[in-house]
Amino acid sequence: MFFFGYRARLVLCCMILILFLSGTLLYSYRYFHNVILHETDSHVLRLKQILDAHLASDRSELQRYATIVAGDLRLREYMFVVTGIGGDSQALSSLYERQFGWLPIDRKIILANDGRVLIGRKYKDLASAIQKQSPGKQSRIFYFEGKTGLEVVAVAAIKYREEVMGKVAVTQLLDQDWLNANKVITGGQYFLEMNRTITSSTLKESDGKPFRLENGRLNINKIPYLVQQIDLYGNDKNTPRLWFGISEAKLDSRLEQHQRTILVISVAGIIGIMLVGMVIIRNFSRPLMKLMSITRKVAGGELPHMEKSRVTNEFDVLSNKFAEMLEALRNKQDEIDTTHAQLEISAITDTLTGLYNRRCLNEIFPKLLAEAERENRKVFAIVLDLDYFKKVNDTFGHIAGDKCLVHFSDILKNESRTNDYLFRLGGEEFLIIMIAEGIESATDFAEKLRSATDSNPVHFDDCLIHFTVSGGISYAEPAAQTDLVFKKMLSYADIALYEAKGAGRNRIVTSTGPANNADKGEVLYLES
Ligand code: GH3
Ligand code: MG
Ligand code: MG
Repeated sequence: MFFFGYRARLVLCCMILILFLSGTLLYSYRYFHNVILHETDSHVLRLKQILDAHLASDRSELQRYATIVAGDLRLREYMFVVTGIGGDSQALSSLYERQFGWLPIDRKIILANDGRVLIGRKYKDLASAIQKQSPGKQSRIFYFEGKTGLEVVAVAAIKYREEVMGKVAVTQLLDQDWLNANKVITGGQYFLEMNRTITSSTLKESDGKPFRLENGRLNINKIPYLVQQIDLYGNDKNTPRLWFGISEAKLDSRLEQHQRTILVISVAGIIGIMLVGMVIIRNFSRPLMKLMSITRKVAGGELPHMEKSRVTNEFDVLSNKFAEMLEALRNKQDEIDTTHAQLEISAITDTLTGLYNRRCLNEIFPKLLAEAERENRKVFAIVLDLDYFKKVNDTFGHIAGDKCLVHFSDILKNESRTNDYLFRLGGEEFLIIMIAEGIESATDFAEKLRSATDSNPVHFDDCLIHFTVSGGISYAEPAAQTDLVFKKMLSYADIALYEAKGAGRNRIVTSTGPANNADKGEVLYLES
């Protein structure tokens, strides 16, 4: 089965979070990008509509002015006098100035039906535009490109007794000043375009440049402008078109700013998620790794010491519990080891005397043999048997006999060195295995034991129990088959002991030949 570790899972979670965050931010960027674009489009459109409405209101205001002038009774009478009777147009001009000099208009002109200019003779361009644009006798409003710039013209017929005498036209200039004033109000740029060339604009550098739209955008010096055409009522192909535009540079800077914000948030978010992820992985993995390594050791039979950690989370609680469990196991193990050691000692120890019993005989010999070989010395076996011990028991009782056995073992303990191994083979029979320089030192030692036993009777119930010991000594030479050599050595010592008993007891007899692999277990010869 595919195993997916928790660290990999956490990394995967972090990756998913990062992807999700990046996706959300990317989506939000695209969304805001579109919103800003859409917003700008609608903003430009809204401003265009406001301007349209504004211009329409200006036009109707201008039309009203023309109607006021044309409807003035005295002006109509003067008109009749000038056109019908051939009066002086100067009086008409004076009347106009008196009556309508206050009107907020740029130019005014009064034309007679026959084309004569009664007021505003100097405005020849205006007069010919009126003839062209408003040939009938009806009131009209139109735009035209005059000498001073684009101009809106309101024309009204002047009637006298239902007969049209002529017409009055008042104008308002949409010149550079007008464009600049509107630029200040709307914050956008204005372009007057004629035959695909910018004739005038609020952007000085664009004047005279070709007017070409790409995707609804006009590029001036590589800066795109979102543009909308302003409705100039009634203009024809001979009058310029008015455009209103907003630079996309502002939009770009807004988008760039948004992009930067998104980028900063993304990077900060990703770093944040990675840091949090790392901290989580570290926090989770440390105690888990520790637990795993300890568990591995426990599985390998060890009970290692485990430091308890400060509790900050469930993992700490778990590992502390684990440490406590290990501590308890270690204590139990110590108890078992101690009991085991005690059992081991008691298994190889004689309970009465505290000496070794037969059980560890075989283990000790090979060690001593190797040691002796290294030191160029020999291993000796001294077998000791208390003389006539049955008599001691029979005479003083078993308890006294036991006391004698303990007494004798104390003599052995007191006289021996730490490297001498003392055994009670059974009953009143003892064995010493030791390393010595030569047969003399072993014999001297056995003799010392014999003499100490002989001269130290046991005090028991106001009685002195005197007993003796006989001993047989043999030694081994280093050989390959240690088991066989050991058996031989003991057998030689036994034979020597038997010899000692036979020779009258309370003596030590030495087996002269060494126990080795040469003979087949046969006794070479014994000497008393
Ligand atoms: P010998 O000089 O030939 O060795 O004579 P012995 O009497 O010592 O030998 P024998 O083998 O006939 O007797 C050994 C006696 O040792 C028999 C038994 O009463 C005594 N004995 C053996 N084990 C113990 C013991 O644990 N406690 C006591 N008190 N006596 C023991
Ligand atoms: Mg005996
Ligand atoms: Mg005996």
